[in-house]
Amino acid sequence: MINKRKFYINGKWLDPIKPNDFKVINPSNEESFALISLGGKKDVNLAVQSAKQAFTFWSQVPKKEKISLLENLLEIYIKKWEEITKTISLEMGAPLDWSSSAQTSSGADHLKDFILRLKDFKFENNFNNNSNNYIVYEPIGVCGLITPWNWPVNQITLKVVPALAAGCTMILKPSEIAPLSGMLIAEIIHEAGFPPGVFNLINGDGKGVGTYLSSHKDIDMISFTGSTRAGKLISKNAADTIKRVCLELGGKGGNIIFDDSHPNAVREGVRNVMSNSGQSCDAPTRMLVQKSIYKRAIREAADEANKIKVDIASKKGNHIGPVVSKSQYDKIISLINSGIEEGATLLAGGPDKPKNLDKGYFIKPTIFTDVKSKMRIAKEEIFGPVLSIIPFKDEEEAISIVNDTSYGLGNYVQTQDKHKARRVARKLRSGGIYINGNSADPGTPFGGYRQSGNGREGGTWGLEEYLEVKTICGWK
Ligand code: NAD
Repeated sequence: MINKRKFYINGKWLDPIKPNDFKVINPSNEESFALISLGGKKDVNLAVQSAKQAFTFWSQVPKKEKISLLENLLEIYIKKWEEITKTISLEMGAPLDWSSSAQTSSGADHLKDFILRLKDFKFENNFNNNSNNYIVYEPIGVCGLITPWNWPVNQITLKVVPALAAGCTMILKPSEIAPLSGMLIAEIIHEAGFPPGVFNLINGDGKGVGTYLSSHKDIDMISFTGSTRAGKLISKNAADTIKRVCLELGGKGGNIIFDDSHPNAVREGVRNVMSNSGQSCDAPTRMLVQKSIYKRAIREAADEANKIKVDIASKKGNHIGPVVSKSQYDKIISLINSGIEEGATLLAGGPDKPKNLDKGYFIKPTIFTDVKSKMRIAKEEIFGPVLSIIPFKDEEEAISIVNDTSYGLGNYVQTQDKHKARRVARKLRSGGIYINGNSADPGTPFGGYRQSGNGREGGTWGLEEYLEVKTICGWK
């Protein structure tokens, strides 16, 4: 059993004030392999105090010095690539190849991009040469950063790196389900030479540390990625202290496949949902297919789903792994059963375990057809390898079905008609639109409309989230 009970506070690894063990489970075999501690109020107070003290000097550190520390961080991150990859794979079930090429690489990409943004960013500017006013961007202060388990290092780097670059100090609370990659990042930050107190880490659950951070009077901002359920609670808990709350929440992406789409659109749509075992907030989990190609699309979708192999995370290959936990497994299976009960047609997969995988939280790539908008599988975020296929008649109907959701994170359009693609992209209500399989470049903003959140991470937008803007009048 790996002992990871300590917290990183003020540059040191400290025991929790009151022991409160929590088991970290390997989702491929359901066995616990590490112990962490869930923190309490006193641990949080200690970390906040250290971050508050560090803010007085870190907020004043020149850009050049911050860039050099971030470059150290990137260099060490790259050296520890294998260890990061194995840790993510073990704790959240991503197969090794995917863990390396998608999960670990995302952290390096964010680091590289934020270094460039910091180099370019002007923290001070004359807003108008004729004016006697001057605009200054300043770090917001002490930040509470709360992250999920599905893309653990991706989410941590999207928050920690711009917060460091802005001159903020912080307390990170990684997901208690997959905390070890976050602890590894803390070790890397330490090795990179960031001064004590600038970055702190406390493990804990939502009810405990998550709530203490959200309501703490000395925390100026919470950046949260996770479920819409927790996002609402955090907003309420933060309300009394009027702190800035940036939320990156769930999604229920639509993927509109027109009859003039490229030949691989259906197969790629299926792969896109099933990757990371369906545990991505912007997964295109509602596939809308134009009626004229519906029969062909269903044949291709079933064939593609049946080709996807499911296996343990420690094996190399392009299979998908288990879902992260027993509670996620139970929730996904219950939603699959609801699809059957509500009358959708089960095209592939289903609630039974894949062959030869009795232990572990494995779910077969599952597809439903003839899904109606009112069914639970069309409305709720399933967060597992489950796709709903919905037929549509024309452009107008497709847009209306996709927008008929409380979410608005990522939507997808497949057509070879550029004008139609752009027209539809403008009408879909979400923070990201992906035309014909194109993905977002590093440095672009990521975030949601409506109940998918209110913030933007990545690039200059992600950096600005951690900054206050000051107008100084009478500068000249
Ligand atoms: P979750 O909301 O249960 O937990 C996320 C984090 O929040 C964890 O660290 C957890 O301990 C903490 N938390 C839980 N309740 C809390 C509370 N009341 N107060 C403070 N903190 C609390 O979500 P999860 O199951 O870990 O992650 C999956 C969810 O995250 C999905 O809904 C997914 O769509 C979403 N997600 C969104 C994005 C995005 O950028 N929009 C990215 C990844 C994941």
